[in-house]
Amino acid sequence: RELVIAIDGPSGAGKSSTARGVAARLGLDYLDTGAMYRAVSWACMVDDVDMTSPDAMLERARGAELLMGLDPTDPRVTVDGHDVTAAIREPVIADRVSAVARVIPIRELLTGRMRNIIAASGRIVAEGRDVTTVVWPTAQLRLLMVADPVERIARREAELAGAAGHERVVSSIVDRDRKDSTVSRFGTPAEGVTLLDTTRLGLDEVIAAVIAMVPG
Ligand code: C5P
Repeated sequence: RELVIAIDGPSGAGKSSTARGVAARLGLDYLDTGAMYRAVSWACMVDDVDMTSPDAMLERARGAELLMGLDPTDPRVTVDGHDVTAAIREPVIADRVSAVARVIPIRELLTGRMRNIIAASGRIVAEGRDVTTVVWPTAQLRLLMVADPVERIARREAELAGAAGHERVVSSIVDRDRKDSTVSRFGTPAEGVTLLDTTRLGLDEVIAAVIAMVPG
């Protein structure tokens, strides 16, 4: 029987850790839709694609063979045969990814690929910005995870363990909220989407809360 858990939210709200934890605990697949936008950004970067040209970015996206690993304990991402799992986490990708994500035909292309992956799996936790609203609005559980920006910045800093300065982390969170505001607004959840504020919750508490909401 189909079980799709859709989790949206801004960067640093705890989506990925939560989605992976829930998928691992329930034996479900895991899809990181943001990684698909990041992978296209990586492909554009290595091919020196003009990031001011939506057509050039779209052409590169169309030609990119994305392979998304669905194992929540080790979700590997491959583009045209290159394992880019680590490379797409670099700040240089975070800086560029919103430019890719703003191109509507690229969104349509990737949304189609996401739907194919989710349909083929049938039992999956998918996370991103518009999974609850656009990619898979019929998910059995739809969540919008939010957290105070100060808390999101602190978490990202802890995750990076000092690899990036405070200013760099602040700008990566705050700038991306602003750049992404054309594709997603996180004030109010869409109808049927449950708001989960994780500001004062630890990861284990959030995972437990999500699992408790999964329909029997
Ligand atoms: O989740 P993550 O921060 O890795 O996402 C990277 C970027 O991909 C976001 O900043 C956003 O621009 C884009 N994105 C999107 N729609 C999604 C997932 C991610 O536009 N469903």
